[in-house]
Amino acid sequence: MNFEEIFNTIPEAEASAPGRVNLLGEHTDYNDGFVLPTAIPQSTTVLLGMSRDSEHHFYSENLNERVTILDTHHSPSGFASYIYGCIEVLKTAGYTIPSLLVYVKSSVPMGSGLSSSAALEVATLRAIGQLFDLPLNDVEIAQLAQQAEIHYAGVQCGIMDQMAASLADSKHILFLDTRTLERYLVPFPPGTEIIVIDSGVPRTLATSGYNQRRAECEEAAHLLGVKALRDITNVDDTNILPKPLCDRARHVITENNRVLEALQEVTPERFGELMNASHASLRDDYEVSVPALDTLVEILQKTPGVFGARLTGAGFGGACVALVTSGQGREIATKVIEEYNHIGYNGQILVPTINL
Ligand code: ADP
Ligand code: MG
Repeated sequence: MNFEEIFNTIPEAEASAPGRVNLLGEHTDYNDGFVLPTAIPQSTTVLLGMSRDSEHHFYSENLNERVTILDTHHSPSGFASYIYGCIEVLKTAGYTIPSLLVYVKSSVPMGSGLSSSAALEVATLRAIGQLFDLPLNDVEIAQLAQQAEIHYAGVQCGIMDQMAASLADSKHILFLDTRTLERYLVPFPPGTEIIVIDSGVPRTLATSGYNQRRAECEEAAHLLGVKALRDITNVDDTNILPKPLCDRARHVITENNRVLEALQEVTPERFGELMNASHASLRDDYEVSVPALDTLVEILQKTPGVFGARLTGAGFGGACVALVTSGQGREIATKVIEEYNHIGYNGQILVPTINL
């Protein structure tokens, strides 16, 4: 059902934002470090209208779910919390937002680590900004989106996902310094494109594992006498740390250095090596990989046309990203998924959008 059928009126504003995949710089954002995400081709679209009563009405086409919220009501749960959060952070920022009709449709896979949540927040904020002519720039939108996710969806996220949804495009890689928010678009290595494959293993331990790693990094930074691990650039400095803190810190430091090297217009082969090294570091030093991700990465790495591959996202399940020869992504992904699923896994190609 479309907007008109759900709400019996026509939309007055429409905006979209893409999902994202991170190519390099994993578990660095909460260490004030560097990341290299790119937008994926899939996006989320939000259509808006004015509510004729004092309630917000939200509808998600993907979930086929409608939620009604008194705008004075306390925070809702589920998908409504992301949209409600966007409205509330705008109010906190001083804007007057009346009750709204919000219709969401998306081709970004939900809960697969491609950041459907940030796409939803950024699309919502863009649409509201458009409808009321709010003077919001792309960085402000990303920051408001992050506030909505932290305070209303209850997810302690960094700023990468929202910055990527707000500023990245799928033709470039977005370099972001998560401390200073310095950012710029960099080209893909010549003659390359990306593929993303879901391992089929759910990220069940991701939240507890993520929180534990965050705590370990804070502890390591504290013992090293710095504000964040971003302030350490020499791995030898980690030698004084007890295990596993020295391993965790080594991952963050080498990962930041890999991102900085990748910025130097490296060859596709070198970029691929940096991705492979990132995976090894996430597996051995950061210990956030699982056998399924290691298997998928191994298959990707030995497949002709693949320059490099790694797990992407927090780990403990979820997806892998690979840099491949441009024009061959579809063929390579199909071949890899066949081999991977033949072993008994239930993987799925997420980019390019074959199965959607
Ligand atoms: P990811 O951001 O990696 O996709 P998250 O768990 O952070 O995973 O966010 C997924 C959640 O975001 C969904 O469970 C849902 O609540 C919300 N969401 C995202 N996109 C949509 C959509 N199109 N319709 C409804 N809810 C959505
Ligand atoms: Mg998310």
